[in-house]
Amino acid sequence: LQLYARQAARAVITALERGEYAEGLAREQAVAEYRAQLMDVLSHEVQNPLTAILQNAELLLTEDHHDALTVRGLENVQRGARRIEAMCHDLLVLARVGRPDRPLDHVVDLVAQTRGVLDLLAGEADARDIAIELDAEPAELLVVGDVQDLDAVVSNLVANAVKYSEPGGRVAVSLHRVDQRVRIEVVDRGVGIGEEDRARVFEEFFRSTDPRVRQRPGTGLGLAIAERAVSRHGGTISVQSSPEDGTRFVVELPVWDG
Ligand code: ADP
Repeated sequence: LQLYARQAARAVITALERGEYAEGLAREQAVAEYRAQLMDVLSHEVQNPLTAILQNAELLLTEDHHDALTVRGLENVQRGARRIEAMCHDLLVLARVGRPDRPLDHVVDLVAQTRGVLDLLAGEADARDIAIELDAEPAELLVVGDVQDLDAVVSNLVANAVKYSEPGGRVAVSLHRVDQRVRIEVVDRGVGIGEEDRARVFEEFFRSTDPRVRQRPGTGLGLAIAERAVSRHGGTISVQSSPEDGTRFVVELPVWDG
């Protein structure tokens, strides 16, 4: 991947040196082109072979004549490939959320959308013995925006709440109207975030050094994605947390009244 990134950067620098970009626009255009090349590499040269690796590991694991060492090796392959897959996915989502040219023109019912996200996360929550509760009032809360971006906001917050809770824990998701805004709150009683880390959680690639965080898989991009998506929609996102009480994320987005 580093090699591809270097090749893409070199191509852009060569084009710059040849004067292929108009003055003024040069930097912006060069960066956009670099980003497009890198994303192309991620989606084709990295994601496609990864899919093949994962499919083959899965297929081999279904056979029951392997010795314990082979099974352990295959499971390690699977775990490693899944981590790269998650990183590719989040990098592509982050690049997409940052593109200003994508229209924000869909009317989205955040209550229905949140139910959909919770359905998708139910398996993971069950596996970790975490109960997720949803409280929505009124039953429909509309905003205007990009479906995928809004999905990414809710799913990153709830997935984190599940991931950083201890087995037997509870996650409370609520949606309410407050004046002209929809307020989404995601509350957990999990490992919490210390004061120093709190200021940094929305930074790209930031992960706490707390071992209870590091032992769980993650890319450090989920909250950066959520923050970009929320601000693109004219909203705000904030966090209150302590290692004793757990974590509360609050998102507010402008309501759409038709
Ligand atoms: P990650 O993939 O590491 O979860 P995020 O960008 O989603 O990346 O979150 C950044 C960091 O913020 C996490 O690594 C963790 O330290 C902290 N964090 C986010 N959500 C929670 C939460 N609900 N409880 C405790 N810590 C959290």
